[in-house]
Amino acid sequence: MRVGGREEAFDPAAIVTRGQSGAKVIAPWALHWFRRDLRVAGNAALQSSFKKYQGRVVGVFCFDGKFLSRDDFSHDRFQFFIHSLQALREELRSLGSDLLILDQGPEASFSVLGGSLKASGGLPASVTFSRDYEPFARDRDARMGKWFQDQWGVTVESFRDHLVLEPHEVTKPDGSAYQVFGAYKKRWLQVFQDPVIQQRVSAKATGLTYLRSKKVEPIFSLTWKDLGVELEDQCQAMAEKNQRKVSVPIPEAGSKVAYEKLKGFSSRHMKYAQNRDIPGVLGTSQLSIYFKNGSLTTSQAIADLAPGPSDTFLSELIWREFYYSILFHFPSVEADAFLAKFRKIPWVNRPDWFQSWKDGRTGYPIVDAGMRQLLKTGWMHNRVRMIVASFLTKDLHIDYRWGERYFMEKLLDGDLAPNNGGWQWAASTGCDPQPYFRIFNPTLQGKRFDPEGDYVRRWIPELSSCPTKWIHEPAKAPDFSSFGYPLPVCDHSIQSRQALAMYSRAAEGAKQ
Ligand SMILES: Cc1cc2nc3c(=O)[nH]c(=O)nc-3n(C[C@H](O)[C@H](O)[C@H](O)COP(=O)(O)OP(=O)(O)OC[C@H]3O[C@@H](n4cnc5c(N)ncnc54)[C@H](O)[C@@H]3O)c2cc1C
Repeated sequence: MRVGGREEAFDPAAIVTRGQSGAKVIAPWALHWFRRDLRVAGNAALQSSFKKYQGRVVGVFCFDGKFLSRDDFSHDRFQFFIHSLQALREELRSLGSDLLILDQGPEASFSVLGGSLKASGGLPASVTFSRDYEPFARDRDARMGKWFQDQWGVTVESFRDHLVLEPHEVTKPDGSAYQVFGAYKKRWLQVFQDPVIQQRVSAKATGLTYLRSKKVEPIFSLTWKDLGVELEDQCQAMAEKNQRKVSVPIPEAGSKVAYEKLKGFSSRHMKYAQNRDIPGVLGTSQLSIYFKNGSLTTSQAIADLAPGPSDTFLSELIWREFYYSILFHFPSVEADAFLAKFRKIPWVNRPDWFQSWKDGRTGYPIVDAGMRQLLKTGWMHNRVRMIVASFLTKDLHIDYRWGERYFMEKLLDGDLAPNNGGWQWAASTGCDPQPYFRIFNPTLQGKRFDPEGDYVRRWIPELSSCPTKWIHEPAKAPDFSSFGYPLPVCDHSIQSRQALAMYSRAAEGAKQ
């Protein structure tokens, strides 16, 4: 057993005892570095260390300055994240472990922590973390894996958590990435049948059993205090400072709440296929904010809901994995269109139109309702995300990256892979996207998916008295002027014709 670079005998009895000199002697223990796996239940890395080190596991989270200074940083999402961390800490403490939250990037945080540990109980025997697939995270993890080995001389192990199947597990026979969702999904479902994977997913239900039980027992046996670490925790101060900039009600956070939401959804799951496209009803799971930070995983949802291979909800989870796979295999999509032929579209980018779109004042009710739902709640229904994204790119001719960044500023579930994938799908620039010549008509989309106008009236109070007949084209209503609602900023039929020309010219230009 390597501890702080030294070989030591494993002594399970000596959890925390005092040696003859009075100094603390702590049996080998493990440190888990939390990032996007903010829960205990079904956390494979924690579980593994828990077994190996007989409950002597503590957690660390560190805020990375690079993340906090991103230009698409969201105060709302950050607040939810801090609450999720606080909930995790409570959970760990009630189970006999602890979470230390540090306010510097990983190198700086672990250097300070290492100094403190060397002066007291000694370094951990092992460091674990759950894998993350974003380009930035992959670089960080490669760097930190080496750092832990060089600086601390400890074993470093990473585990799967965020995805059911990792990008390298669902590839073509030659190892290359699928670029068509249908083929990807087919292979995903085949791999998913593998008994090892089935067993892994059903093991996640064990984690849920823990959440189901009311009784909480201190199963862990090590805290930061035991280790002599009493570094100042900045989490509360950060939460208070950030709260001033929060613009939406922050939903309850943590794995217990996430699990309650999953339970709530299980009764709606049977009707998911029927209702998921109707923004006026609660037809979807609204679990995305918990999947994003790992308060709940998609594997846990699958373990609990046991969907069959043709289940529509499962299919949406596979879309999520598809977009992660695309980002993993083609990291350049973070900055540029997947399809080379659409990298040079001459977007018009009118700032006044962009502002109308952001404010939910384009004069197209279904678009405006979606944008206002986003502004007021930090979440938007998937069907409406597709409509507003199509509208921004193909009606307003604004670069999809402007919309993508704005979504990241506002969405509580803002997540690089599905956000980029969703935007590039709608803008027809992505991998297996909506063909560029299929352009959503926002009025017809409204009539089809919100026929009674319930969704529109909920988010646009000016239209509350607009008759259903005109709810998706209020400018035609005889008393339109009394609504105080704007006229359409543009004419859909003209704009969509121009979009077609813009895309086909770009494609032609790319050939030359
Ligand atoms: C332009 C655009 C931007 C988007 N940005 C994000 C984002 O930043 N973060 C995010 O999590 N999702 C994003 N999505 C996907 C989808 O809109 C949300 O995941 C979904 O609305 C979340 O609500 P829900 O949990 O109720 O979904 P449900 O319908 O209950 O679906 C269950 C889960 O499946 C996944 N999922 C569902 N639809 C999709 C999809 N089209 N693509 C990928 N995964 C999906 C999500 O993890 C979701 O939580 C975006 C879609 C579009 C069109």
